[in-house]
Parts: sequence; C-alpha cells; structure tokens
Amino acid sequence: DQATEDLHETMETLEVKNAELDMARKRAQEGSRVKSEFLANMSHEIRTPLNGIIGFTNLLLKSNLNETQREYLTTLQNSAEGLLAMINDILDFSKIEAGKLVLESTPMNLRELVDEVLAIAAPTAHDKSLEIACLIYRDVPLDIIGDPLRLRQVLTNLVNNAIKFTSDGSVVVRVMLDHQEDGHAILKVSVTDTGVGISESQQKHLFQAFSQVDNSRTRKIGGTGLGLVICKNLVEQMQGDIGLESHIGESSTFWFTFKAPFAAEGQLSQLNCRL
Ligand code: ADP
Repeated sequence: DQATEDLHETMETLEVKNAELDMARKRAQEGSRVKSEFLANMSHEIRTPLNGIIGFTNLLLKSNLNETQREYLTTLQNSAEGLLAMINDILDFSKIEAGKLVLESTPMNLRELVDEVLAIAAPTAHDKSLEIACLIYRDVPLDIIGDPLRLRQVLTNLVNNAIKFTSDGSVVVRVMLDHQEDGHAILKVSVTDTGVGISESQQKHLFQAFSQVDNSRTRKIGGTGLGLVICKNLVEQMQGDIGLESHIGESSTFWFTFKAPFAAEGQLSQLNCRL
C-alpha cells in the first residue's frame, strides 16, 4: 500500500544520503592526509636552503667585519633562525596530525639537559637584563630514560616564551619530584616568569592549534602559535600533562609532568663511552 511504498522511498533516500556522507567523509580524510603530507614535504624542502643561509651567515660572522656589517648580519641570522623554528614547528605539527611523531627512549641525564637549555637561553635573557635561574630539587632522580631531544624542545619552548614575554624581573626553572613508583618517577618541571601574564579567557585556547593570544605584543613578537600545542602532544606521549597558572600583569608559571623511568646503573656510563 501507499504507506509501505513511502517507507521504501524514504529508506532509499536515506541510503543514498548515507553513501553521499561516506564519500564526503572519505574525501575529507584524503584531503587532510594530502594536506599533512604537503605540509611535511614543504617544510622539509624549505629547511634545506634555510640551513644553508644559517650556516653561511655563521661563517661570515666569524670573519673580519665592521660594526654595521656585523649588525646587519646578526639581524639576518636572527630572522633565518626564527624562520627555521617556525618551519620546524609546522613539520612537527604535521607529523602529529599524521600520527607520525614518535618519541625515543634513551638513557639521559636531566641536569645536563636543563643546563644546556639554560646556557643557550641565557644570552637573550641577559640582553634584556633578566635574571635566569634553575633549581633542581635534591630528591629528583637525574639518570633517567627519555627522549632528550623532545624534552629539550618542551623546556626550550617554555623558557623562550618566558623570556619573550617578560621585560623585567626573572625566569626561574624548577625541577621537582612529583612522586615515585616502582622503577620510575613522575617529574614536574615548571618555568616561572615575572612577565605580562595571560588572562583566564585566553588561557583556555593556549593549547589549541593556531590560537595565539591576540594582542599587539604577540603580533609584534610573531610565531606560529603551535609551540604549546606541540609541547602538549609531546608530554602526553611521555605520559604527562601540561598546564599553567598566570596573573595578568604579574607572572606566569607553565609546568609539565612526565614519566621518567630510572636508567639502570651502568647504562649512562655505556652511553658516555660510546660518545
Ligand atoms: P609560538 O610558537 O607562536 O611562540 P606558543 O604556542 O609557544 O606560540 O604560545 C602561544 C601564545 O601564548 C604566545 O603567542 C603568547 O601570546 C602566549 N604565551 C606563551 N607563553 C607565555 C608567557 N610565558 N607569558 C605570556 N604569554 C605567553
């Protein structure tokens, strides 16, 4: 009868719509994959000539230059390094989107890593007359298993941000033991600055892709807005978490936790021998 016929017709329409939806979903997935691949390839291709520019700029800076030449070349070096940092962020982000960013596990020393990050950041901090300090609490196990490159990346990002957004005062890094379990510790690293701070409404978006806090200072300073998104993904892969506390116009403390399996006795000395 008519009702059954209508029902059949509706069901047919529904099936067609479902098939269309499926097709659209597949096209979107394919589009997203192509986009990630394109981003990854482009970033890779841009990195090669950029490394050439940076390498030769460094070489030139070691030669005999007058003051103006040195000043111009230093500006060129800073711009090229800023661009490389952005390209690296885009490359990492496209890897994350494609599920291809995988962490390593090697024996490493936490103190060496923190010292390295601070040694690199110190000149920029001192140029701005900022104090930069580090406290590693006594109960923190230093010989651990982790991905030194990625841990350094997270800490560097937080320290660089702290320096960028602070015009006077200090930047302090603290490394603490959150708690200890069988064979591993959960460690907490925090970076406290006395900078511009971030309002509560803006804090929510910090860990979402492409969402920089929109103010004139940020626009002037630049960046991709991907740094913290990448940090969040990295610490989550280390079975940790990331967060912040901030008071506008006063200070910000960014912190992250991560799981740190203890390096067995001898693992680090083996590593040192290989080096
Ligand atoms: P980018 O990679 O562009 O530096 P991030 O994801 O690292 O971006 O940071 C996003 C935004 O968060 C920054 O542009 C800035 O507005 C804000 N921010 C990050 N750290 C701080 C800080 N310590 N003090 C004030 N604002 C900060």
